[in-house]
Amino acid sequence: MMTTPAAAPPALAARAREVGASPVREILALTARPEVISFAGGLPAPELFDAEGIRAAYDRVLAEQPGTVLQYSTTEGDPALRAAVAGRLTARGLPTKVGDLLVTGGSQQGLALLATVLLDPGDVVLVENPTYLAALQCFGFAGARVVPVPTDDDGVTPAALDELVARERPKLLYLVPNFQNPTGRTLPLARRHAVAEVAARHGLWIAEDDPYGELRFEGRGEPWIAALDGAADRTILLGSFSKIMAPGLRLGWLRAPAGLGRPCVIAKQAADLHTSTVDQAAAARYLADRDLDAHLALVRTAYRARRDALLAGLPAALPAGSTWNRPEGGMFLWVRLPEGHDATALLRTAITHDVAYVPGAPFFAAAPDARTLRMSFTAHPPAGIAAGLARLAKVF
Ligand code: PMP
Repeated sequence: MMTTPAAAPPALAARAREVGASPVREILALTARPEVISFAGGLPAPELFDAEGIRAAYDRVLAEQPGTVLQYSTTEGDPALRAAVAGRLTARGLPTKVGDLLVTGGSQQGLALLATVLLDPGDVVLVENPTYLAALQCFGFAGARVVPVPTDDDGVTPAALDELVARERPKLLYLVPNFQNPTGRTLPLARRHAVAEVAARHGLWIAEDDPYGELRFEGRGEPWIAALDGAADRTILLGSFSKIMAPGLRLGWLRAPAGLGRPCVIAKQAADLHTSTVDQAAAARYLADRDLDAHLALVRTAYRARRDALLAGLPAALPAGSTWNRPEGGMFLWVRLPEGHDATALLRTAITHDVAYVPGAPFFAAAPDARTLRMSFTAHPPAGIAAGLARLAKVF
């Protein structure tokens, strides 16, 4: 019998070869040991999940409508869940109809759908520098050319944005205007208006990604860009239940301006037909039977105490000359170490001391600042934060 040597299978698609894994996920794997006090992951506090309320919601929908909630359902999503989201958005100043909303598998899927329907290879996407890593991956998979917009402590700078839009002719601007990941920064109102004006004048889409806006624990919230004059017809607002209910539910939503909803529904059909029927039904039941705002009030109070514990301990833990911000909500703050420090190199030492953070460098689309790092303050109560900072002081 003749044996022919096996030919190697064909190569992966270029996009799969080019887009790297998320370094945050790889670091999280290293810090999974229970003895590590991690400021790295963007994890909501698990002890604050309303597990009892969520369980009751699942029990009820499975007892009352098993045939419906275990069945296939529509791509657009559970009408009751969409109505509840529309009600919350409308109450907060963004008039929204059920038909404007598509339920997604987390806001991450909203990003993927937008990339599918808007981006051809070579199209330019403008992003904050630094920005959310998995958004960079999404745009990378679409073959887009990602161009960073210069930012300062308040987010993107309007003059630089205007100049880049004129030069690069981008199709899409991706922003996280509230308590941004990774910096914790919030875009002030005047800049939101400036962004809306630039988008209207030059004609581009804005993806407004807002998973953290409801986690404001002090100060006044700013309106969504989607609600501002000139931006309403070109802004896609992405929302999520991950930070206000539980990320394991994998539930988010996309609010599309006219003309974009239908293409997003078709893209979602091709991706997964629809988001889990039972998970959507349970979330809708939860919103009807429980008081999400009362639950959120508890979460905000706890997160504020954790942020304050981190802020109180940072001066003693970080090397002299370090700087950091003081976000009024969200989950993260952003540190810059003094000259000569490399946050990525120091992380290896930190892990040997059973403490972790995320280096800032991977979040930059260009010109990474090696001195920066992201610290999440939500995953540990104040005593754990203090203990983690004591370890970090030894590292530095
Ligand atoms: N956008 C941003 C800015 C995020 O930080 C995250 C989660 N870390 C997501 C989107 C995705 O969230 P989810 O898919 O859980 O809604």
